[in-house]
Amino acid sequence: MSNQLIDIKILKNVPELIFGEGSFGKLEEIIDEISHKHGFRNVAVIMDQNLRESAPFNEIGNYVGPNGSVYYFDVSGKEPHTDDIDALVKQIKEAEIPDFLIGIGGGSVLDVTKAVSVLLTNDGACESYQGWNKVKNPPVFKIGIPTLSGTGSEASRTAVVTSATKKQGINDDAARFDFLVLDPALTKTVNPQQRFFTGMDCYIHAVEAMEGTMCNEFAGAYADKARELCVKYFMEDDKNPADMMTASYLGGCSIVYSEVGICHALSYPLSFFYGYRHGMANAIVFDHLSEYYGEHVGLFKKMVEKTV
Ligand code: NAD
Ligand code: ZN
Repeated sequence: MSNQLIDIKILKNVPELIFGEGSFGKLEEIIDEISHKHGFRNVAVIMDQNLRESAPFNEIGNYVGPNGSVYYFDVSGKEPHTDDIDALVKQIKEAEIPDFLIGIGGGSVLDVTKAVSVLLTNDGACESYQGWNKVKNPPVFKIGIPTLSGTGSEASRTAVVTSATKKQGINDDAARFDFLVLDPALTKTVNPQQRFFTGMDCYIHAVEAMEGTMCNEFAGAYADKARELCVKYFMEDDKNPADMMTASYLGGCSIVYSEVGICHALSYPLSFFYGYRHGMANAIVFDHLSEYYGEHVGLFKKMVEKTV
C-alpha cells in the first residue's frame, strides 16, 4: 500500500525560474515584477558574506533599492547552525519583516534563506522545525539565486540545518523557493576544489535517487540527466557551467521524489562530529561504497583522477 502511494505521489517543483548567463542582471526587473504582481513593498536579501566584495554581488544594494535590506551570512567556518538562524531571524524581525526574501549563495545560504522564510512566520526555535512537515503557517515568499552548483537546494523542499543534537533538514513544502534565478556565470569564481566537492554532491544525489528503493520514473528521469551532465562536466576539458547548474537543479528534483541513501546517511555524522563540509564528507564515504553503488563508484574515481 505504502509503495503504491509513493508511486503516485507527484511532488511540487519551484513554480517559476529564469535560466541563462546574464539573468542576474535582470534582478531589478524581477524584483519590480514580483513586487507589482504580489503587492510587495520591501525585500530582504540574505547573501553569502564571502561574496560581499566581488562583482556583480557588490552591486546588490542598487538592485534592491531604498526599500531593501541586505543581511550577510558567514558560511566559512561551519554549515548553517540553528542558533545562527534564530539570531538572524531576531535581527530581521527587529528591523522590519520583509514581504519577500532573496537568498544568494551556495547550498548553505540557500538553506539559511529557506529556514528564515519559515521562521519569520512561525514561532519557536529553528531546531523545533527539524524533521518532516512541521510548518503550520505559510512562509515568506522567497527567490533563490545559487552561486555554486551541486547541492540542489534551489530545487528541494529541504533546508538542512545543524542543531546542538543533530544535522537534519526542515523538510516541508514551505521551505521550497517560489522563484529561481539560475545564472551559470555566477559560479565562475568558485575555486576548483569546492566546485568538485559540491559537484560530487549532485552526482551522489543522482546515484542515490536512481539506485534507491523509492525511485520512480520521475525521480529516475531527473537523476539520469543530472548524472549524465555531472559526468560530462567533470570528464571533459571544455567545461560549461550551465551543465552543472542544470545538473544541480535536476539532482535536487530527483531527491525530492526519491530521498537520499546510504552515502548521505553515513556522511552526516562526519559533518556533525568532525566538521567535514557536506560535499567532502559525501565524497569520502562514496569512495568506499562500490559494494552498494558498483560502477557509479568506478566512474566517481575516474572523475577524481581527472580533477586532481
Ligand atoms: P557552501 O554554500 O557552504 O559554500 C562553500 C564555499 O563556497 C563557501 O566558502 C562560499 O563562500 C563559497 N562560494 C559560494 N559561491 C561562490 C562563488 N560564486 N564564488 C566563490 N566562492 C563561492 O557550499 P555548498 O556545497 O553549495 O553547500 C553545502 C550545504 O548545502 C551544506 O550545509 C549541506 O548540508 C547543504 N545541502 C542542502 C541540500 C538541500 O536540499 N537543501 C542538499 C544538499 C546539501
Ligand atoms: Zn547532498
